[in-house]
Formats: sequence, C-alpha cells, structure tokens
Amino acid sequence: MLTIQAIPAFQDNYIWIIQAEGSQHVLIVDPGAAEPVLDRIKKQNLIPVAILITHGCHDHVDGINELLQHYEVPVYGPKNEFIPHITHPLSACDGVIIEPLFPAFRILDIPGHTKGHIGFLIEGNLFCGDVLFGAGCGRLHSGPAEVMFESLQQIAQLPKETIIYCAHEYTENNLRFAVMIEPKNDELQQRIKDTAVLRQQAKPTIPFTLELELATNPFMRCEQAEVMASAKKYIDQALATPNSVFRALRMWKDRF
Ligand SMILES: [Zn+2]
Repeated sequence: MLTIQAIPAFQDNYIWIIQAEGSQHVLIVDPGAAEPVLDRIKKQNLIPVAILITHGCHDHVDGINELLQHYEVPVYGPKNEFIPHITHPLSACDGVIIEPLFPAFRILDIPGHTKGHIGFLIEGNLFCGDVLFGAGCGRLHSGPAEVMFESLQQIAQLPKETIIYCAHEYTENNLRFAVMIEPKNDELQQRIKDTAVLRQQAKPTIPFTLELELATNPFMRCEQAEVMASAKKYIDQALATPNSVFRALRMWKDRF
C-alpha cells in the first residue's frame, strides 16, 4: 500500500507525495514550487528518492532546481518535452521501477494539453497532471482537440476504480459548466452537493474515481444524448462524432 498526500501550492495546484509502505521514502510529483515540499518533508522526516514530472508547464516544474539542491535524486519526465533536469525521459511503457520499495509504474502518453504530456499509473492510482480534471479537462496548449480526446479515451479505458490525482483544484468551477451541459444528470447534481460540502470545509475534491468522471464529466461523456444536444445547440451545426462534440465543448469551456 502507498500513502499519498497533497501539498497545496500557488492558488489551486496540488503537488503529490507518494510514500512507500513502511518507509519514509517518497516520490514527489510535479513540484511547481520547492518551499511547501521542503516544509512537508522536514515536518514528516521524509526522504525524497525521485521527482516525477507529467509535463513542462512552469507550475509543475519550477521547484525542481531548488529541490535538487537539497536532494540529489533522479527526475523522471516526458521524453517528448524539453524540461531541464530530467534524467530519465519516459514515454508509454510498462514496468518502470523507480525504487524497489515502490511497485512498478505504467507510463501513459496522454498528449493534448501539452505535446509530450505523460501520466504515471501505480497500483490503480493515476497521476495525470493537467489532462483530466474533476468534471473537466485541461486546455489545449498543443495540437488539435482530437489529440486530447484520444488521451481522455485512453484514460476512460482504465478500470473504473482507478483513482485520479490531477494537479488543480478546478472541480467546483468545472461543475458549473458541466451542469449547464447536462442539467438532467442526477449523479452530476449529487456531485455538486458533495463538492460544495468539501469546499465549505476547505477540503480537496481530489482524488476522485474514474467511475465518477465517467458519470459526471461532460468531456468523458461526448456520446451521451444530452451532451451531444447541448454541444450541437452551442455550435449551431450538426455534430456527427463524439470527437466533434468534444471539440465544441472545449471551445465553449474556453469562453465560459
Ligand atoms: Zn499544464
């Protein structure tokens, strides 16, 4: 069993710390800032053994340099993005052993938000950076919408119990958009209530299960009749494929 904890950073980022069972050894995921990570590590007497990077946005990588000054650890990250400090470039593969204390990782290529974006899957936990968010998805900084759509489809194929750790607390805002797309979705209405309770207590809405996303995230539901109808109405033209529904939703959300 792994212990996973969130370190809030900036306005709405989460830096994730993955701790091996019965050990103080930890992996640090997407350290956009070093200070909150160093604080947590010292407070809990943790021992960093590697840094994992999903993609090159500054709020995911800017803390690497300072962390390396304190801890000489390897840095695993996307092969197809230029990120200084990466010692172990990765693209889709299975069985990546970072340290014997941790189970093997599976690496997913999930481009769309950025061109080389990867995800780290370990023991049913997916660290997906800025690809899939609670009830939403990342912006398209590179490539066409189709690429992001395919990446989300790839995640949708994972076991529905998969636990998703994304990098931003955007859920509440995303739900405001989602309910406009699918006002008749009961599970979505329930999620809005549950999320409001969490946020009132200043608790993270992350992680969440893939199952919940498949039931409530419009970007994962592009083949549903109500989602298709809303997208069609917005774009005012026929949308033949889930892919084109996705493109319309993403465009709409960008202006929301
Ligand atoms: Zn990003």
